[in-house]
Amino acid sequence: MKWIQTFLCCILGYVAIAQSGMTSTDTTAAIVMMGNYSPAAYMPVAPVSDPYAIAAGVRDRISADSLHEWLNVLRTFRNRNTGSDTSSAEIGIGAARRWIYSKFQQFSAENEGRFIPSYLQFNKIICSMAQHRNVFAVLPGTDTSDKSVIIIEAHMDSRCADLCDTACIAEGMEDNGSGTALVIELARVMSRYAYRHTIVFMATTGEEQGLDGAQAFAMYCQQHGIKIRGVMNNDVIGGIICGHTSSAPGCPYFKHIDSTQVRLFSIGGFNSPHKGLCRFLKLEYKEMQLPFAAVPMTVSIMTPEDRTGRGGDHIPFRVLGYTAMRFTAANEAGNADVATGTYEDRQHTSADSLGIDTDGDGIINDYFVDFNYLARNTLINANGAAMMALGPRTPDFTLTTSGGSLVVTLTAETGYPQYRVGVRTTTFDWDSVYTFSGGATAFNIPLSASGNYIVSIASVDDDGVESLFSRELQVSVVVGLNEVVAITRPVALLQNKPNPADESTMISVLVNAGLHYKDAFITIRDMSGREVYRQPLELSEGMNEIIYDHGYNMSGTYSYSLILDGAIVETRQMVFSN
Ligand SMILES: [Zn+2]
Repeated sequence: MKWIQTFLCCILGYVAIAQSGMTSTDTTAAIVMMGNYSPAAYMPVAPVSDPYAIAAGVRDRISADSLHEWLNVLRTFRNRNTGSDTSSAEIGIGAARRWIYSKFQQFSAENEGRFIPSYLQFNKIICSMAQHRNVFAVLPGTDTSDKSVIIIEAHMDSRCADLCDTACIAEGMEDNGSGTALVIELARVMSRYAYRHTIVFMATTGEEQGLDGAQAFAMYCQQHGIKIRGVMNNDVIGGIICGHTSSAPGCPYFKHIDSTQVRLFSIGGFNSPHKGLCRFLKLEYKEMQLPFAAVPMTVSIMTPEDRTGRGGDHIPFRVLGYTAMRFTAANEAGNADVATGTYEDRQHTSADSLGIDTDGDGIINDYFVDFNYLARNTLINANGAAMMALGPRTPDFTLTTSGGSLVVTLTAETGYPQYRVGVRTTTFDWDSVYTFSGGATAFNIPLSASGNYIVSIASVDDDGVESLFSRELQVSVVVGLNEVVAITRPVALLQNKPNPADESTMISVLVNAGLHYKDAFITIRDMSGREVYRQPLELSEGMNEIIYDHGYNMSGTYSYSLILDGAIVETRQMVFSN
C-alpha cells in the first residue's frame, strides 16, 4: 500500500532535534514492559479476569464526581507548561506530575502493590528546560507469552498563547486536563483487575511544543524492544461546547452542544491497523456497554489522522511503526489559532478553565467540562483497553469467491471456538460483523450486491473476547445469478470512503500488476464541470489512497476522475452533506 501524504505538512515539525537519555526511573516498570518478569508475582489473591465482570465493574466504578475531583486538583497547579516550575510543591508541571505519581502509588497500595509507578525521564531543551518527565504506571499482565503492552495516555502539559509562557494562568482543563483526569480515573478503576496483557497508563509532557514526551516514550519502547499492541491517546476529551472556531473536521457553530459523540482519529484506510484499532474499540463499546448505557454514545471513526493542521501524541508512536489512535471530543472550543488577533476561543489561552462563576458567589456554576460526558468517554476507553488486554491471538486468512459467496479460509490461529469476520464497503465502519462457531476453518458469506468488499477477521476465545482484527484483504466482485465473480482490472478507481462525507474523505485507486503510465492525476469537478481540485499521483501496485479535505459547510455532489496520461480512466460521484 502506498500512502500519499498530502496533509502532514503542518504537524508541528516535531521531527526536529531528537530526545536523548530516555530512562525509566523505576527499573521494575521497565522490566515489566519488556515482558521479562514472572506474572505470578503480580497475580491478585482473588483475580477477576472475566470480561463481562470487568465490563460491568468499570461501568459501575467510573465516576463523574471522581473525574471532577481530579480536574479540581489539576487546576490548582495553575500552569503546567512543559518549561514551568519543577521545584514548587503547589505550582507548575513538577507539582502536577508528582501528584499524579502519588495517585498511582495510592492505587497500587489499594491493589496489593500490583501497580508500578515510574517516570520516563528524557533530555531535550524545551522552553529553556533541559530535562523532562512523563509520569506513567504499569499494570503487569498475567501472561508473558505475548509480551505486547497497551498504552493509554494523555498529555498533562498546558499552554497559553505564548508557547513557553510559564507565568500565565494555564489551567488547561479541556486541553488536556480532561485527558489527564481520564487516565487517572482509568488507573483507579482498572488496576483492580487482571488482564492477559500489560497495560501502561501515562501522562506525557511536551505535547504542546512538539509531541516531545510521547516521542521520547515511543523511542524508549523502540530502543528496548517493547512491543505495543495499541496506543490510545486522549486529548481534548471533556468539553461539549463548540467555540467560534474549531479545526476541520470540526463542530458546526458557536455554542453548539454535543455530549453524545466522540471522534476517533487515525491514519490510513485500507489495511490500516490504526483504523482497525478504532473499529475494534467501537465494536467493543457497542457490544459490551451500549446495551447498558443510560446515554448512548455515537463513536465516529474519522477519515484523517487528526484535525487539519493539528497533531497529537499518537503520531510519534505511529511514525515509529506502532498502532496508535486518538480520542477527541466532538466539539472543541477553538482551533488554537491564537496568533490571529481576532481569536476569541478558550483553547490554548488562560480561559481554558473548568468553567465560570456567573453569579459572583466564587463557585463555578457554568462548566466548560461536562463530567458525565467525560465519564462516558472514560468508559469507552476502559472497555476497549480491557478487551484488547484480555483478548486472544489474531488469526490470518485468505479471501476467495465461490458460488454466491465470499469465502474466508483461516491460515493461522485455527484452534479458537469462534471467529468473527468484518466486512466493509463504503465507509471505515464494518457493514456487518459475522460470527462463526463450530470448528470450521472456512466461512462463507453470501453476497447480494456487486462491489468492492474489504474483509478482516478476529478470533474469539472461550471467554467470548475478540482478538484485534487481522490485516484486511479486498476483492471486487460482480454478483450474477447464483454466483459471485471476482474481477481484476489493471487499475480501478474505487468509491470514496466515507460517502456521503462530512468534510474529508478518502479516494482509493487499486492497481494490479503491470500498469504502465507516465502521468496520473485525481481531479474533482463540481456539478457545473469546474475543476476544484487536482492531485498528482505516484501509483504503485496495491491500494493507493489520498485524503481530500473539502472544508466545512460545503455540501454538494462532485465527480472525481482518475486520469492516466491525459485520458480519463474512470469517474465516480461523491457527496458532501453538512
Ligand atoms: Zn492537547
